[in-house]
Amino acid sequence: MTDTPPDGVVYETDAPVLTRVGDGVAWITMNRPAFHNAQNSQMTYALDDAFRGAVDDPGVKVIVLAGAGRHFSAGHDIGTPGRDVNRSFERRLLFPDHVGRPGAEFLYTREQEVYLGMCRRWRDCPKPTIAMVQGACIAGGLMLAWVCDLILASDDAFFQDPVIRMGIPGVEYFAHAFELPPRVAKEFLLLGERMPAARAEAFGMVNKVVPRDALEATARDWAMRLAAKPALGTWLTKQAINHVEDLRGKRTAMDAAFHMHHFAHAQNELASGDRLGGQDAASMAAANKAAAGRGPA
Ligand code: ZN
Repeated sequence: MTDTPPDGVVYETDAPVLTRVGDGVAWITMNRPAFHNAQNSQMTYALDDAFRGAVDDPGVKVIVLAGAGRHFSAGHDIGTPGRDVNRSFERRLLFPDHVGRPGAEFLYTREQEVYLGMCRRWRDCPKPTIAMVQGACIAGGLMLAWVCDLILASDDAFFQDPVIRMGIPGVEYFAHAFELPPRVAKEFLLLGERMPAARAEAFGMVNKVVPRDALEATARDWAMRLAAKPALGTWLTKQAINHVEDLRGKRTAMDAAFHMHHFAHAQNELASGDRLGGQDAASMAAANKAAAGRGPA
C-alpha cells in the first residue's frame, strides 16, 4: 500500500466534525459513526475549530453538540485505524508539542491540551451549549456532554466511565462528583457500570430524557428558546454558574484528579509497559458488554 502513512494512521474521513448553521443555531456533530464517534486528535482539533467558528459567527446564538449514528460517543480513541496520539497538531493552548517527549511527559503534555485544556475551553464558551445525547456516552464522551450547559438525552442513552479497568481514577475532565452526589459518583467510578439516562436525570446530571425520535425536535425547541434570549445575558448567566462551580472547588479538584490520572498512566507504563494497563478498544468494549445491566437497580 503506497498510500499508508509511515505512522500507520488511516483516517476514514476528512470531516470528523460537521457543522451546520441555521436559525441562530450551530449544530456541531461528531462524525465518526463507524467508530461510535471515538475521539482522536483529528476530531478534538476539528471540534475546537467548530467551537471557534460558532463563537466567531455573530449569527450563532446557541450551540448544539451531537454525535452522528447510534451513539453520542464511545470515548477517546484507543484503537481505531485513525488513532493518532503520535501526531503533532497546531496547538490551541500554551503547551509544547507532546511528540517525542520521554516517558510520562508524553501523555501528560498531550492530555493537558487535547483533553483537559480543550474541554475547559469549550465549557467556558460564551454562547449557551446543549449536548444532545443518544446511545453510548462513555468516558471521553462524558467529558463532551459535561462541558455543555444543558444535557438532553434520549431514553436509550446511557453514561459510563469504566477506566478503573485500566487502573485509572476516571477520565481527565474529572467532574464526576460535581455531576453526581459523591456516593453515587463513587459507585459510578468504582463499579464502572452503565447508568441509564433516567437515573442520570434523577440526579440532575441530565436535564431531560425524551424518546429517541423526539430528541432532535426537543433540542431544536430548546435552542430556539435560548436563541431568543439576549446573547450577553446567556453568556453572563452561564459564566456566573460556572464561577459558582469553581468556587466550590471544581477546578482545583479537577487539577488534583488530573495528576492522579497521570500517576496512574505512569504507573501502568512502569509496571506493564502499557499506559492503558493492557486495555484496548476491543477489550474495553467486550468487558462493558459483559457488565451491561449488572449495575444496582
Ligand atoms: Zn489519560
